[in-house]
Amino acid sequence: MFKDGVAKPKQSKEGKAIGIDLGLTDFCITSDGSKLKQPKWLRRHEKNLKRKQRKLSRQVKGSKNRDKARLKVAKVQSKISRCREDFLHKLSRKIVNENQVIVLESLNVKGMVRNPNLSKAISQVSWGQFATMLKYKAEQEGKVYLEVDRWFPSSKTCNVCLNVVGNLPLDIRAWTCNSCNTHHDRDINASINIMNEGLRILSLGTRDTACGGSVRRSRRSSRTQVPGERRPKSGRKKSTSRQSPVKQEAHA
Ligand SMILES: [Zn+2]
Repeated sequence: MFKDGVAKPKQSKEGKAIGIDLGLTDFCITSDGSKLKQPKWLRRHEKNLKRKQRKLSRQVKGSKNRDKARLKVAKVQSKISRCREDFLHKLSRKIVNENQVIVLESLNVKGMVRNPNLSKAISQVSWGQFATMLKYKAEQEGKVYLEVDRWFPSSKTCNVCLNVVGNLPLDIRAWTCNSCNTHHDRDINASINIMNEGLRILSLGTRDTACGGSVRRSRRSSRTQVPGERRPKSGRKKSTSRQSPVKQEAHA
């Protein structure tokens, strides 16, 4: 993983594992059952930004008022990015401190679609920053960070019996497995599946981070099947951190 040959702490995957699902309503949903929204004040700043951007767009080009409005927009943008970074730093620090293995769903699938919706674009920037922070903080401490693809149906698979439900529209936030009767919160079930998928990959030993040892799962898991449609994970090690391509647009 480290081509430069610099000695990094030896990675270990002894200890607790966590799976993390990222979303819009809740910023972060974890396999241990917690849901976290972006702080309210951050969302307030985002509304403020929208308002000031609208005001800017109404000003005549080349006018003094336009300059003033532009300055106001820039100030709010800078405030938002500092607040957001602070929030993401604290959250990623907490997660890395409390866990040994951190599994995130890949942002390739859900996040990187260009989206005209401003709040979604802002969330995508946050997801990318968050993934980057989790990754480097985990690596600094010799912990394991990995991303799993969402080619497997993490929302639609029951984490208890691995039954896959046929259809689960986005507005269905909770469901009951028709095979084992477990009642699931949609997002928490997904994040448990993300964790299990990460642990499965580690147990296969296809990554250089898989250096033996046992991981305590925070939830019961008996995942053994290997659906054939999953892509091989071994070639993806270096692509685990990224910034969102919508970064510029989010503040445009
Ligand atoms: Zn089930």
